[in-house]
Amino acid sequence: MNELVRTFHSDVHGEQQEQIPCPLCGASDGETVLVARDLIFARPGGYSLLRCKGCSMQYVNPRPTGAALGAHYPDDYFGYSLHEDAPRFMQPFLRAMARGISLRRLGYLEEVAGPIGAGAELLDVGCGVNRLLECIKEERGVVGQGLDFKPEIVEYVRSRLQMPIEQGELASAGFAEGRFDTIFMMEYLEHELDPRAVLNEARRVIKTGGHLALELPHIDSFAGRFFGRFWWNLDIPRHLMFFTPETLRQMLDQCGFELLSVKPFTLPLYIGMSMVQALGLRHWRKHQALYPVLGALLSAPTLPFQFLLPEFIFVVARAK
Ligand SMILES: [Zn+2]
Repeated sequence: MNELVRTFHSDVHGEQQEQIPCPLCGASDGETVLVARDLIFARPGGYSLLRCKGCSMQYVNPRPTGAALGAHYPDDYFGYSLHEDAPRFMQPFLRAMARGISLRRLGYLEEVAGPIGAGAELLDVGCGVNRLLECIKEERGVVGQGLDFKPEIVEYVRSRLQMPIEQGELASAGFAEGRFDTIFMMEYLEHELDPRAVLNEARRVIKTGGHLALELPHIDSFAGRFFGRFWWNLDIPRHLMFFTPETLRQMLDQCGFELLSVKPFTLPLYIGMSMVQALGLRHWRKHQALYPVLGALLSAPTLPFQFLLPEFIFVVARAK
């Protein structure tokens, strides 16, 4: 049950939508920042991104209902792609890139929280094909718990990787109180209909003093502001909540977490992908091969300036 929802609209360009107040402060006077279309799968309709006049939280409103949201996560969405399904010559490159991303996440967490010790209880919420927990198993010998709502992915992780995973949402998973030392939410919270409920449940199942690691797109970054509705990491309407370090700090605080550190970072390809969309190529599914090639070419001249262009944040918080 989503406590945020105020009103429902039926059949807006073919889907059920709902209207919400500000997810952070509850006010209803958001101003429109931009109206964006789904540039990845080119589904119909536009979505308004609002900024709360009181607290600056940015969120999509109105938005698809929970039931309507599933249609925005087809099988070829990024989080579900398997390296085995890519052309053979691409596979070593994809594996190396995925491993690099996981090692970076592990490194950022350990910088703040210290090394993951033997016997640590880990949870990755929205784990997808479980690359992070696989990497931590290899590097630290610790087998973490996965959680994802996509049944096909859960089956893959269970049968092929033989790692523990639950299917569903954090709220319904019913993990024991205070079970986990560390919870990961990598590129997850921006997808959530009710981030406060998720953080409250995370606080219930994490030990006091445990660490919560979050990775999120940063809409007030240079790229977010410059590219606006063509920003690659906008990804509306799969992304519904856009936090800044300050709005995230406030919500974490209200849910029993103390924000410890915010690390801005980027991947070199991101800026090129935004350029591709701004230049007019706007249907990722139709041009899946062209996007990364063009994106890499356009990104190349920006390589010396990557440190100026972070468009993601990696946040570590401690359970109070
Ligand atoms: Zn607000």
